[in-house]
Amino acid sequence: MVKNEDVFKKIISHCKEYGFVYPSSEIYDGLAAVYDYGPNGVELKNNIRDYWWRSMVQQHENIVGLDAAIFMHPTVWKASGHVDAFKDPLIDNKDSKKRYRADILIEDHITKLEEKTNKEIEKAKKRFGDKFDEKMFRETNPKVAETQKKIDDIAKRFADLINNTDLAGLRLLIEELQIACPVSGSRNWTDVRQFNMMFSTQMGSLIDEASSVFLRPETAQGIFLNYINVQKTSRKKLPFGIAQIGKAFRNEIVARQFIFRMREFEQMEMEFFVKPGEEADWYEYWKDQRMKWHLALGIHAEKFRLHDHDKLAHYAKAGADIEYKFPFGFKEVEGIHSRTDFDLSAHQKFSGKKLQYYDPDTKESYVPYVVETSIGLDRMFLAILANSYEEETLDDGSKRVVLRIPPLVAPVKVTILPLVKKDGLPEKARKIMDNVKNYFMCQYDEKDAIGRRYRRQDAIGTPYCITIDHQTLKDNTVTIRERDSMKQDRIDIEKISGIVREKIGR
Ligand code: ATP
Repeated sequence: MVKNEDVFKKIISHCKEYGFVYPSSEIYDGLAAVYDYGPNGVELKNNIRDYWWRSMVQQHENIVGLDAAIFMHPTVWKASGHVDAFKDPLIDNKDSKKRYRADILIEDHITKLEEKTNKEIEKAKKRFGDKFDEKMFRETNPKVAETQKKIDDIAKRFADLINNTDLAGLRLLIEELQIACPVSGSRNWTDVRQFNMMFSTQMGSLIDEASSVFLRPETAQGIFLNYINVQKTSRKKLPFGIAQIGKAFRNEIVARQFIFRMREFEQMEMEFFVKPGEEADWYEYWKDQRMKWHLALGIHAEKFRLHDHDKLAHYAKAGADIEYKFPFGFKEVEGIHSRTDFDLSAHQKFSGKKLQYYDPDTKESYVPYVVETSIGLDRMFLAILANSYEEETLDDGSKRVVLRIPPLVAPVKVTILPLVKKDGLPEKARKIMDNVKNYFMCQYDEKDAIGRRYRRQDAIGTPYCITIDHQTLKDNTVTIRERDSMKQDRIDIEKISGIVREKIGR
């Protein structure tokens, strides 16, 4: 069996080879945790962005869009709590000189214990077959129950330490769990220190303290500051939402796992403003809606799970993550948070401006509560790629790499291929291309044998290939080949757009 790390390495090199993602500034040996998107990557990213925007804004009459600037007044970040609380606990290994996030070292340790349990369960599943009762096994198998108890104890202690910002306690826990540095193998750790993750820069020509601005670590604050403007200009009544897509920046200490954790990334956030007291119901509603959004794309349900937070962000009253099973384990793709009136009240206090909503039904004024859905576009991109990548051995023994990207978000929808580069076939193919490209992202390819051209399209996830042959010239029919089944049908040229449209569901 191919190991998960190997699969992940293959996905990373596939991304580079086929123009999805390149390391940034590569000729200068790259810049840690910064990446660029190539021709196929930008199409996939745009399609995911569109899918989100359409389902959040176009399909909700009470949600509108916004595009706020990245730079904001420095006091925004004081009010939002990011200057004081947007910090990660870091720890250095004295031998390797490598820096780690103390919380991630502990989380990884818990994941290892969970994997141990999962292995036991897999073994037992095989042994007991259909009769296997996982719940009972977890409760009664001494080894599994003991590991589970260990996990629960560590998780509980960990949550307390994080919530109390007990840095000495975190170090003690790392020592007790005998966590070693993956590079040096030693347990020679420094103390745990706090590290603010915001990037700052100077604005204007005068460089002094007051002219320092931050690169936003989340897009949400631009929404909060504009909520009155948006509410008035779009004449919205509560509950209503504001959606925004844009870049965010975090000086991550541990930048690894490819585009999963970057220093510059993109968020798709929606802040939903509700009457105080109604937030719990809306929180449940959005958790449910967002999970449905993920599943509607066609990724297997067992690859997603909802994880309620033990450790809450400084602004949240309740929080949950939608996690995807990456090759390196279940990890957060999206967060849903009940942010209360934390942000709006803080901005009201710091700015001295009223941020209250006048409720025409009850004739009262109040600061709304907020439920947030926040998804990382780049993480969603990685989840889709990881879910799509497959190495397949065909009936004739040959191999192909296929990206089974959901057709709706596939970078290229149709590729037009003249069977040979002569006899008037390229001219006919061009005519078809000129028509189809009005509706879908298309490619034209006449180089190499047809089999190799199909493989190239499989490797970038194109749902359909259209082949033009000599019969096309006689009866206006073409061959349409479907990516996943590799099934080929002969159809009328007129039918191409209809079939593709049905497949991509638009
Ligand atoms: P993590 O615990 O993984 O650091 P987080 O809880 O800090 O993530 P949020 O602040 O909830 O993340 O941000 C919302 C979303 O933004 C996340 O679900 C994730 O998809 C995305 N995101 C956050 N940090 C990064 C990053 N460094 N690189 C890429 N995407 C990110």
